[in-house]
Amino acid sequence: MKSQPAAAVITMQVPFFRPDLGEGEIDEVIATLRSGWLTTGPRVKRFEAAFAAAVGAPHAVSVNSCTAALHLAVEALGLHAGQAVLVPTMTFAATAEVVRYQGAIPILVDCDPVTNNMDLADAERKLSAFHRAPGGMAHAPDVVGIMPVHIGGLMLDMAAVNAFAARHGLWVVEDAAHAFPAAWRPARGAAWQRCGENTATVTCFSFYVNKTITTGEGGMAVTHDAALAQRMRLMSLHGLSNDAWNRYAGGPWDYRIVAPGYKYNLTDVAAAIGIHQLPRAETMRQRREQIAGMYLEMLSRCELIELPPSDPNRIHSWHLFPIRLKLDALSISRNGLMEELRGAGVTCSVHWRPLHLHPYYQETFGFSADTCPNATAAFDQLISVPIFPGMADVEVEYVAMVFKNMVEHFAV
Ligand SMILES: *Cc1c(COP(=O)(O)O)cnc(C)c1O
Repeated sequence: MKSQPAAAVITMQVPFFRPDLGEGEIDEVIATLRSGWLTTGPRVKRFEAAFAAAVGAPHAVSVNSCTAALHLAVEALGLHAGQAVLVPTMTFAATAEVVRYQGAIPILVDCDPVTNNMDLADAERKLSAFHRAPGGMAHAPDVVGIMPVHIGGLMLDMAAVNAFAARHGLWVVEDAAHAFPAAWRPARGAAWQRCGENTATVTCFSFYVNKTITTGEGGMAVTHDAALAQRMRLMSLHGLSNDAWNRYAGGPWDYRIVAPGYKYNLTDVAAAIGIHQLPRAETMRQRREQIAGMYLEMLSRCELIELPPSDPNRIHSWHLFPIRLKLDALSISRNGLMEELRGAGVTCSVHWRPLHLHPYYQETFGFSADTCPNATAAFDQLISVPIFPGMADVEVEYVAMVFKNMVEHFAV
């Protein structure tokens, strides 16, 4: 069907994301500034305790990014050169780079063509190919871990992931940057398990500005393992035996450097935001779920696209709303469509160029488009439309209308 492109009548500008910050967050930041204690202190302790309770984990270590949390997790697990880790190719830079920080090798795994989450069948294939590969290598790297990513907040089947890990003797570090709050259950009627509620050895969350809750920049690692939590806490602040707040708050002035740690601690200014985002997290998730429902309904009859899946056995965080274009039926590329949409006032994004299509991973490990064919195919088709709790109904309707008109305009 050929119709007038919506670009001809710009009526609205819809950004990809707007942070949702209330007076509570603002007042708490001001109170923190007035308190005289800006770095890691009492507000970080409050935020950690509240977050641990929210996901049902006994230990929560706050840091200044999810990347830092992922790094501390693999460090605490002893990851080192000569080892390898299964990492989904459909993810952000952070998931694989922390493996490289430790000198270890990321083995990139293809995605499921519907959810885009890591495909365990391909993980199995990559694992056996890896063991066979470098002809009789005397010291073939040991595959020690797997790092699932719940894309957009739609959780993987964690029983399947953990069974796979147990079968191959792997630890599991969950990149849950999109998955707070989110939950899964094996079947209808079974108990829900929250992401972080012992779903993995360590689960890492992001509070980057456009994630489901924010502290501006921030992250959290949660675990049921006290020794891992202790190691992550130690390494998050220079490997010091005694942190600044403890010293200030009446502890001994003295400290010992017990390991060459990092500078990953979260500030009280950031935690002040988190303390007030946390109680609003479920309300914000429900609003995103409502927006997803509106998109699903308004776009359901469009034959030119595939809409993201949902699942009655998942509590979906709806951090993203990725649409797949049926390129065979369209006379425009994904990038071309994104430009047209931007011209009509709608800013979209792509999640993601898969890791095996980036120069660093191709040049260092010899990955090519064929390494992960599902992800290679998905990359050209994926487009994420705006979804954030402060989006007005009229904005959602506008995005859906413009998107639908635009793809229909370019139908072949
Ligand atoms: C955003 C993101 C990260 C990194 O989070 P930061 O807090 O910015 O370090 C890691 N993994 C995924 C999948 C992400 O989307």
